[in-house]
Parts: sequence; C-alpha cells; structure tokens
Amino acid sequence: GAGPVLRAEAVIDLDAVRANTARVGQIAAGSGAGLMAVVKADAYGHGAAECARAAKQAGAAWLGTALPEEALELRAAGITGPILSWLHHVGGPWDALIRNDIDVTAYASWALDEIVAAAQRLGIVARVQLKADTGLGRGGTQPHDWLELVERAAKAEAAGHVKITGLWSHFACADEPGHPSIQPQLDAFGQALAVADQAGLRPEVRHMANSPATFTLPEAHFDLVRPGLALYGLSPLADVTPAELGLRPAMTLRGRVALVKTVPAGHGVSYGHSYHTDADTSLALIPLGYADGLPRNASNIGEALVGGQRYRVAGRMAMDHFVVDLEDPAAVDRVHAGDEVVVFGPGDRGEPTADDWARAAGTLNYEIVTRIGPRVPRVYV
Ligand code: PLP
Repeated sequence: GAGPVLRAEAVIDLDAVRANTARVGQIAAGSGAGLMAVVKADAYGHGAAECARAAKQAGAAWLGTALPEEALELRAAGITGPILSWLHHVGGPWDALIRNDIDVTAYASWALDEIVAAAQRLGIVARVQLKADTGLGRGGTQPHDWLELVERAAKAEAAGHVKITGLWSHFACADEPGHPSIQPQLDAFGQALAVADQAGLRPEVRHMANSPATFTLPEAHFDLVRPGLALYGLSPLADVTPAELGLRPAMTLRGRVALVKTVPAGHGVSYGHSYHTDADTSLALIPLGYADGLPRNASNIGEALVGGQRYRVAGRMAMDHFVVDLEDPAAVDRVHAGDEVVVFGPGDRGEPTADDWARAAGTLNYEIVTRIGPRVPRVYV
C-alpha cells in the first residue's frame, strides 16, 4: 500500500514546465532563435533532471547549468544533447566535462588554458564557449581583454584542441525594461561578436537573453534565448503576473498541520514573542521552517492557506516550524492535525504565491523557490 504520509512536499507540475518551455520557445522562434533551458541550482529548486527532461520534451535543444557538477549530474541521469556549464573554478573537473561532451565556458584566459591542457592530454576536441562581460560587471571577459582571449581561442582551435561553439554574455538589468544599461550592453556584445568574427571564430550559437530579455528584447535573442525563471512559471518582471506572460507556476509547497490548540488572549507566540494573540484563539503549527528554505524575515508577514483560508504567520519563523493564528477559538473544531496547508502555489485555490512570499520577505521569487531545501521531498505530477 501507500507509504507513510509526508510531512511536507514540493509538488512539481511538469506539465506546467513543459507548457512554460513551449511558451518561451514560441517567443524565441518568433525571432528565429532556439532555446537553452537553464536548470542550474536543481532547476531553481524544481529538480534538475526531471525539469531538464520536461524542457527537452517541450523543445529546448540546449540545457544550461552554472556549476560543472550540475552539468555532469544531467549526463549521469542519462540526459543527452548539448549542455553548457559556466561557473568554472581553477582545477575543476575538466576531464569529465570534456569526456561527457559538455560545452564549457571560458570567461577568462586561465580557464581557456586549463581547458586546452585537458583537451590536449585527453586527445579530445573540447567544446568551448567564450563569455564576454558587456557590462554586468560579474563573470566574463572585459572588452580590453577580449581580443586577446579570442585570439588565443582561435589559435587553440587551429591547433585542433578546442572548437569554439559559442559566444555569449549576460544582462545586468533586463528585468527593468528601458534601463540605460541595456542598449550599451547590446552594443558591446555586437562589438565582441565582430572582434571574434575578425579573429576567424565561427560559433554555432550566440546568446544573451535571460527570462526578462526573452520577453522584452527580441533584438537580444540572437541564436538562443537562455531563460531559467520563466520555465518554472514565475514572472521575471515586477508588476507583471505569470498569467499575463502566459506562464503557470510549477511549484506548490504544501504540508500538513501538525497541531491545533486553543490559547488565551495575550499569549506570546514563538521565539522572542514578537506576536501576542489579541483574543482567545486557536493556533495551528505548520511543520516547515527556515531549514526548509522559508525566509525567516517573512515572520509575522507571510501567509499560508490552512483549511481553505489564508492566515498570517504568527511570530517568528523557526528552523522547523511556524505558527498561524486561526483567529477563532472554535477553529479547533474545523482545522485538525493532518489537514493540508498550502504555503505557496500558482494561486488559483486562493493560496499565496512565491511572489507573495518574496514581497513578504523583501526578496525575489527566484530566491523563494530556489531555497526550498533538500529536506522537502519533490513530488512530480
Ligand atoms: N544565464 C545566466 C548566465 C544566468 O546566470 C542565469 C540565471 O541567473 C540565466 C541565464 C537565467 O536567468 P533567468 O532565470 O532570469 O531567466
């Protein structure tokens, strides 16, 4: 029969991931671009291998990860086709990456040197993409070092050690349409591409567009768009809902009430007693906390759906639990241990969304889903 009931789970709607991927793919196709599905950080908490498969079923030709280990995990899960990883470290797992036919990113000359050395030693042509810093000021090579990187890459290609498969960059402020950094970044990328072309590089793919740029900047689509957040059904644009973008949130975080009890007026709730009941009431204990990734700074602000109604977090978010005030001493008669609690989801049953939790915690929807930790089992539907 069925095993024990779970304390809590993150239900992942893979149909939503497929539909969101198809939606984003359709937008990209409108400007002749393909799609790289970004599945780093365990697919923003949604499960890397499962979401990678779903995205590929829905037309993503490429997969993207930050860490090399994340790319290797996809291969270990049996996932084929092009994968790009980008956040490499000195002495990283180059041999495994090259043997597994993973495109690796050289964003500095040290990385190119390590890749060339590994490729030479293995006798395998490594697939390499070069990353330009066009203004983000984070990863990538600055314009004044780009020519040197490109010339070294062209030399390594001519020597048969690497194939330069891609050229790419990343936006700083694509989530703020019209931001003055956007056009200069596009211009700088155009420059970087021209320099690479003059050096004789003929990459398969050029790409720059994250989720917000996919929706708002067709001129940034190039050969591939490279969205993450939108695949999981969350909006990358402030004040624009997922539905308005044709997206559906894929993660529902739910659990079960652990305890319901009555307390008198004036009772302090949770560490620090930052909340006191203002009347005789019932409290419900929800067995999810910051060890599961819920933000502690949503204490007294976040909400959850309990017994079909929304209630605010009462007092501090603890490591393993939080409390809601059911605002009625008689609620013990209708809310019971074992009842479903929905912390966040798509919102169509009245539950809060990841956006609501992000607002409550003063952060982004990205962080809310990505931080849901490994103590919470993922259940795929
Ligand atoms: N490309 C790179 C290099 C990234 O680091 C990320 C994630 O931050 C993405 C693409 C996807 O961004 P988004 O989730 O906004 O679509």
